[in-house]
Amino acid sequence: MNKRKTIALVAHDNRKVDLVEWVQYNWKKLKGHKLICTGTTGKLVSEAFEKKVKATEDIIPEIIRLKSGPLGGDQQLGSMIATGEIDIMIFLWDPMEPQPHDVDVKALERIAVLYNIPMASNRATADFMISSELFQADYTPALKDYASYINRKV
Ligand code: PGA
Repeated sequence: MNKRKTIALVAHDNRKVDLVEWVQYNWKKLKGHKLICTGTTGKLVSEAFEKKVKATEDIIPEIIRLKSGPLGGDQQLGSMIATGEIDIMIFLWDPMEPQPHDVDVKALERIAVLYNIPMASNRATADFMISSELFQADYTPALKDYASYINRKV
């Protein structure tokens, strides 16, 4: 079954070219889904879609732009993961340069693991993910039971 997913797209500056190329290559697979991006990434993703769609007169998917990552966008995304609003995240982070918002980056990755969100940190993993039959399927990630933590005696 084809299920419309909400897909988060984020790339650090040195990985933005990779993400734009990936979006341009995969735009047909992505166009039926809802895309949530941090601010600058979202601008580039929108432009990439506009270029592709111009030639075909196809419809641009819904692209929501949050704040730029260092200005709170990563935290907005983390909050959306915690409330179950994100199905998949492609987060191409830069392994060569420290970021001013390193703590936010770490928090976003942590929350994605906590809620068992499929997350690609590099382009090869994003390729595997989008080629998976689960990408189009109605897939619900299994969540650990945190009841004993929630109900712990404090
Ligand atoms: P940006 O943010 O898309 O606004 O550049 C990315 C990030 O660093 O999280």
